[in-house]
Amino acid sequence: MHEFSIARSIVDVATTEAERVGARRVKRLNCRIGEMCQVDGRLISEAFDIACRGTICEDAELQIETTHMHAVCPQCWRRFEVHNWNWTCPHCGVEGEKLEGGDELELVSIEAEVDDDYSGDPEGLGAERTRGARESPAF
Ligand SMILES: [Zn+2]
Repeated sequence: MHEFSIARSIVDVATTEAERVGARRVKRLNCRIGEMCQVDGRLISEAFDIACRGTICEDAELQIETTHMHAVCPQCWRRFEVHNWNWTCPHCGVEGEKLEGGDELELVSIEAEVDDDYSGDPEGLGAERTRGARESPAF
């Protein structure tokens, strides 16, 4: 249950963050998951529905953005994104080398309902970047 432990971590991080700002309910979670993690977005959503039960994140909407790897071509040195494991340089057809990216697993932001006396952004918490992949070993 790779997906379940990821969903669990997402809920944990979101719950901590929501409680920190005094939220009553989390409406939406925006996550970024790299293609290299090879997780199934549908399974994550299913696991999330279970993991969020009884927490402040219950009934929240989970948004997942898939990120891609970046490669560099050894011939023309151009950078390109790798889609569907296609490492071919789009400019000259040579196989590229992995540079970075595609292994993200992070909660980018959450949108939550906060108490009426909260003086922050009424639309939610904005695009606050709470955790990077390397800072959340629980993922
Ligand atoms: Zn090239």
